[in-house]
Amino acid sequence: MISLRDVTKVYAGGVAALAGVSLDIAAGELVAIVGPSGSGKSTMLNVLGTLDRPTSGTVHVDGYDVGTLSDAELSALRATRIGFVFQHFHLAAGTTALDNVADGLLYSGLRPAERRRRASAALERVGLGPRIDHEPHELSGGEKQRVAIARAVAGAPSLLLADEPTGALDSVSGAGVMDLLRELNAAGTTVVIITHDREIAAALPRQVRMRDGLTVEDTAHPGPPRPGTASRVAGAVVEVG
Ligand code: ADP
Ligand code: MG
Repeated sequence: MISLRDVTKVYAGGVAALAGVSLDIAAGELVAIVGPSGSGKSTMLNVLGTLDRPTSGTVHVDGYDVGTLSDAELSALRATRIGFVFQHFHLAAGTTALDNVADGLLYSGLRPAERRRRASAALERVGLGPRIDHEPHELSGGEKQRVAIARAVAGAPSLLLADEPTGALDSVSGAGVMDLLRELNAAGTTVVIITHDREIAAALPRQVRMRDGLTVEDTAHPGPPRPGTASRVAGAVVEVG
C-alpha cells in the first residue's frame, strides 16, 4: 500500500524533518506513528499522503510512484484513494455536517445529489445521522471529529491518515473516535494514526517510533540486538557485537 525509500524532507532554512526514512505499510494494516514533538511525524504523514513531496527518495502509494505524477494527478490520487483526519477537525464554519462531508467529494466527479447521498451515508456510518443538519458550533469535539472522519471516508478511500485525531478530545470521545477508526480498518481500510497517547499506541497492532527525522523502532521489524548486549540462544549466552 505504502512504500517509502530513503525519504528526506529538508525545509527552507535547512531543517531536515525527515533524514532518510524507509517504511513499508501493507494493505489492511493499522499502524501507530509515535515520537516526540518535532520528530517528523506530521511531515512523514504529509509525504505519504502526497500532500507534500520529499526532497529526495521515493514514495509509492497504492502502486503509484508519486514522484512521477503531476500535481493534478496527485490531487486525483488523493481524492479517490486517501482520506485525511486532523487534530483540529478542519471543518468549515457555518456549514452543516452534511455539506462539510459532501464538499469533501467536490473533486470526485460525482453529481451534487449523489455527493449528498454518499455524505449522508457516511454520517450514518459514524453514528451522526441525527446531527446531519447541525453546524460545527452545534457539535461536541467528538462529534466534530466524527464529521471529519465521515468526510475522510465518504469517497471510500483505501488509505486513511490521521494526525493526532484524539489530541483535542476528552478521553471518552477519544476512545469513541479510536473505536471508529478500528471499525473502518476492520472493514478493509488501511489506517495510519499519529498519536502522542501511549495507551492508544500500545493498543494498535503495529507501532513505528520516530526521533530526529528517522524511524528508530518498528514493532513489525524488531531490530537486531545492540552491540554489547547479551542474548540467549538455545540455552547459551552469546555476546553480540
Ligand atoms: P512532529 O509532527 O513529529 O511534531 P513535524 O513533522 O511537524 O514533527 O516537524 C519536524 C521538524 O520540521 C520540526 O523541526 C519542525 O519545526 C520542522 N517543520 C515542520 N514543518 C515545517 C515547515 N513547513 N517549514 C519549516 N520547518 C518545518
Ligand atoms: Mg505533528
